[in-house]
Amino acid sequence: MEEPTIKVGIIELYGKVNGGFNGPYRVNNERLLDGGFAVRAAEDCLILYDDAGNEIMRQREIRCSPLHDATFTLFDVTVGIQFHWQRKEEQTFQGALTLTLSEENTLTAINEIHLEDYLISVISSEMSAEAPLEFLKAHAIISRSWLMAAPDPARTTQETFAVTGNMDFTSVNEIICWYGRGEHALFDVCADDHCQRYQGITRFMSGSPRKAVEATRGVFLTHNDKICDARYHKACGGITDTFDHTWEDTPIPYLSSIPDAPAFYEPVHTEEQATQWLLSSPDVYCNTTDENLLRQILPFFDQGTKDFFRWRVKYRREELEEILRMKSGIDFGDLESLSAVERGPSGRIIRLKVKGSKKTIVVGNELEIRRWLSRSHLYSSAFIVTAGGGSPAAPDHFILHGAGWGHGVGLCQIGAAVMATKGFTAEEILKHYFRGTELQKRY
Ligand SMILES: [Zn+2]
Ligand SMILES: [Zn+2]
Repeated sequence: MEEPTIKVGIIELYGKVNGGFNGPYRVNNERLLDGGFAVRAAEDCLILYDDAGNEIMRQREIRCSPLHDATFTLFDVTVGIQFHWQRKEEQTFQGALTLTLSEENTLTAINEIHLEDYLISVISSEMSAEAPLEFLKAHAIISRSWLMAAPDPARTTQETFAVTGNMDFTSVNEIICWYGRGEHALFDVCADDHCQRYQGITRFMSGSPRKAVEATRGVFLTHNDKICDARYHKACGGITDTFDHTWEDTPIPYLSSIPDAPAFYEPVHTEEQATQWLLSSPDVYCNTTDENLLRQILPFFDQGTKDFFRWRVKYRREELEEILRMKSGIDFGDLESLSAVERGPSGRIIRLKVKGSKKTIVVGNELEIRRWLSRSHLYSSAFIVTAGGGSPAAPDHFILHGAGWGHGVGLCQIGAAVMATKGFTAEEILKHYFRGTELQKRY
């Protein structure tokens, strides 16, 4: 196996984009361009302008390849789309840039880059460069593996269904929405949280992401000689969840549920256990409030999020009704209750019953539940609900008492970083989260 080149979607559905070439780029094999540029999507082509606003060319696809070590910058790139950390940034990238005319007169910008260079950026974008080296090495291996894991042919049908983001009206009163990977037609991965955060070379402040990638060059996490679909999330909340509770019905052996601790904690089966678990503060790896450590682990924009292990969200009833109406498009009338119909072993709700005076609906999966119950996204779907005030049919307010951050499957990033500070190696960390796996160097 040779080091692959991958296509990363940087922006999509933009009408225009402003950028700059830092050094000479060859454009559509026709001419060299250096300095500022702008691209606008028109009716049936893209129009490229130079720094002075002169039109350079009209094409459906504009391919720009760097000479020597030239890089390119894009302004106003939106990151954290629809999450609470959404913002616009200026980003600089290595490698080739392809601009393509896409649906409804918009443009898509794609960066073609060697896998190992891409990984250095992902590690820098996902985590702070000051994070412990063994943690960064573990992360390099799973990011590399996740990207190259071939989808299982047996799962393809459901994968296709899952990725369309379609609503599955299995019954009138049930809306189960599966979100999968691979819903990009023009490129392999996007640059945002949907796939893996990739923010170019803007954050190459320290040498340790590079060191972590180079030390693990070509190393993959494997199970029965196949590269693992190695998932990860911010904080499990104490117990990780399973693949089949989150994405598809087919279990993946190495994406099973484990306590994020040396000791055993009973997985959640009943509502009583859920209440007890989600209100407790167990001694697990990701249960940390060590600000120094978190500052090392989390990039600066995540540090506003400190209450990830156990959290609380309070809504007035009217407020929650409005959010539900906005996110689901459904008018529930007076909201009476929210109750878990099914949970995964981490306590994450997979199917939630929303009961109102006009309508009662069961919604899933975990990501759709998180989307419905927040103006952006809830940290996780692991929560219990208490209602208070008003009347039983129309309480005054609802409080969500929750745990963890993200889907909870695979590696718990905060837990893994804590393990590294306790002296565990990258391999030990990976074998803790992904049971029955091996490490293999393939190039
Ligand atoms: Zn994506
Ligand atoms: Zn954890």
